[in-house]
Amino acid sequence: MYGQDKTLVCADCNQEFAFTASEQQFYADRQFSEPRRCPTCRAAKKAARGDSGGSSYSGGGSYSGGGNSGGGYSSGPREMFSATCSSCGREAQVPFRPSGAKPVYCSDCFKDQRSSSGRY
Ligand SMILES: [Zn+2]
Ligand SMILES: [Zn+2]
Repeated sequence: MYGQDKTLVCADCNQEFAFTASEQQFYADRQFSEPRRCPTCRAAKKAARGDSGGSSYSGGGSYSGGGNSGGGYSSGPREMFSATCSSCGREAQVPFRPSGAKPVYCSDCFKDQRSSSGRY
């Protein structure tokens, strides 16, 4: 499908630049949309931003944002693991694989732990 070079026009400097077939393939593989700017302007933008990161959307890390809605996990289903609660001995479901190095608590005891040990 991506057999031909395209010529795009930079949104910043209005210069034409080549969007080569291999670049198109590269962008398509990553589901990027077509570049709006020529490589020069893109480099300038990147330099202006200071870092070399570039990956703006990496999915994870959904712990930002305002959390004033009474808690609860809103980031979709996650895999749960069964473990034995270190406090009451009941079966506990934890969102991480129990390593044995740390105590595991059921949700009740976990809440207790949090409320009794206060902030962190
Ligand atoms: Zn440009
Ligand atoms: Zn427990």
